Amino acid sequence: MAKIYFIDVTNRDGVQTANLGLSKLEKTLINMYLNDMGVFQSEFGFPTTRHESFYLQANLELADIGILQSIRLGGWIRAIAADVEKAFKLVPNIKHLNISISTSDQMIQGKFKGTKSRENVVSMMVDALEAARAHGAASVGVNAEDASRTKIDFLVRFGLAAKEHGANRLRYCDTLGYDNAFTIYESAKILAEDVGIPIELHCHGDLGMAVANSLAGAKGAIDGGQDAYINTTINGIGERAGNADLIATVLSVTKSKGFANKYRLGKPIDLTKAWKVSKFASYAFGVPIPINQPGVGANAFAHGSGIHADGVLKDPENYELYSFNELGRGEPDLVETGREICSGQYIGISGFSHIMGQLEVSFDDARQAEKILELARYANVEAQKPLVEDELLFIAKYPEITKKLLTLIPPE
Ligand SMILES: [Zn+2]
Repeated sequence: MAKIYFIDVTNRDGVQTANLGLSKLEKTLINMYLNDMGVFQSEFGFPTTRHESFYLQANLELADIGILQSIRLGGWIRAIAADVEKAFKLVPNIKHLNISISTSDQMIQGKFKGTKSRENVVSMMVDALEAARAHGAASVGVNAEDASRTKIDFLVRFGLAAKEHGANRLRYCDTLGYDNAFTIYESAKILAEDVGIPIELHCHGDLGMAVANSLAGAKGAIDGGQDAYINTTINGIGERAGNADLIATVLSVTKSKGFANKYRLGKPIDLTKAWKVSKFASYAFGVPIPINQPGVGANAFAHGSGIHADGVLKDPENYELYSFNELGRGEPDLVETGREICSGQYIGISGFSHIMGQLEVSFDDARQAEKILELARYANVEAQKPLVEDELLFIAKYPEITKKLLTLIPPE
């Protein structure tokens, strides 16, 4: 039976969200946390965007040396042959790509404004796909943007052309969050049956259904005989009302009524990392986790009413579907209330040595300490807030890779 995998797109859809962004070091830590969790692929950025080049290369290096050992790193580009050429020019060792083009009549008429026909859309995608193949891409997913507003017969035709030219997956993008669980189930099932390649589900929350639609779409793909690849973001951060939340989607796939017994994960997810990854993304984006967020919200395991408190004390299963331990919660959250020495872009060697000493990091000599300090300053310039422990430890452990991550060279 076909299986469910997760492709997290925080470092692509999440960072392209209005008013939000991440530093390259924050993006890197997210890749590392996703790797630790067992997520199949991280859509780690934009290979045609110049300021991403060194970050993308540095993360591919982390994969080469076995730090990002099981996760795949996939880049997102437009399905344009020239963009494929640019991607491989700027990031020559990129292995996995998703290439994207709008397929709906709304977009063909409303966005392309009569410059492209449906046939042009198919041929542009095929040209881009062939270019990616010619460059030796290990896998290419083909994205149908606005798939939910695309006539299904054209979507099948588009998918078949992608399959014929070697696409590994077809991404069904519910770009506007227009689908509901019933419609996306039908569409995903038809695509799985009629196109015959694995289906990605990319769902947005404009109508509040991103997680439910992801689950229903995955069911449709599997019932149609193909693997399902659900796109998520950490804390649901994404364009407008956001994407399917990673933790909530994993919970829904593994805990909801009758689903887990029938539909299985292709790669196990370690949910005990949930708390950490969610807290970090919240800090990095500067967006608080809603109090009622599934699994990771402050109230997710809080019981105030008499009947509920009494019930959960007698047996947690009375009022909890899953345990806080499973999500890596339970440790008290320590907040410094006294003197605090923070990392910052103007920190000196004394304060920095104090912070690193608390993390039990020592330096061989003053020169090395100075070098790590300088890198931490640069990282702070990008982040504009104190670095977290894992960031400081990363810098101390991988100074050369950090240097690459922090390198931004504007074109002449
Ligand atoms: Zn999206």
